[in-house]
Amino acid sequence: MLQERSAGIVVYRMDGSDVIFLLLHYGRDYWGFPKGNIESGEKEKETAIREVEEETGLRSIRLIDEFEESIEYFYRKKRTMVHKEVSYFLAETTECDVRLSFEHKGYKWLKFNEAVNQLTFDNDKEVLRAAKETIEKSMHIPFH
Ligand code: ATP
Repeated sequence: MLQERSAGIVVYRMDGSDVIFLLLHYGRDYWGFPKGNIESGEKEKETAIREVEEETGLRSIRLIDEFEESIEYFYRKKRTMVHKEVSYFLAETTECDVRLSFEHKGYKWLKFNEAVNQLTFDNDKEVLRAAKETIEKSMHIPFH
């Protein structure tokens, strides 16, 4: 079985008093976070920051230190099963202009409830819930 390791970032920004999250459209019904393969010699966080810049054009992001969530899944690549692990970090940005690479079909900035509904996979939804908790702790108020 093939093993793959990727890293990505749950990116959020303030829109007035709303917290909104950045989701990317990978194609068909697949919506997720910016992420990509860890290249040799790279640390997870370095990959995550590089991938966000490549996939979204966002250059100024502020990483939230205490957040790191990992998920794993299996998928089939032609006839080979792949076991994939993805580490997610959390970052805030003040930039709203996203410039997509060829890899994605679209993007959306969504409030938490909308983002949970838009995300395709349950493990990504759990990552988003954990991100919300961390942001709420830092803001000292709950949000929706
Ligand atoms: P990367 O963005 O890491 O370079 P990729 O775009 O090549 O990766 P994935 O996004 O991992 O590949 O998608 C490969 C397959 O895994 C797709 O068929 C997708 O539907 C499925 N997949 C993606 N994310 C998840 C997930 N969180 N849980 C389960 N299956 C997933």
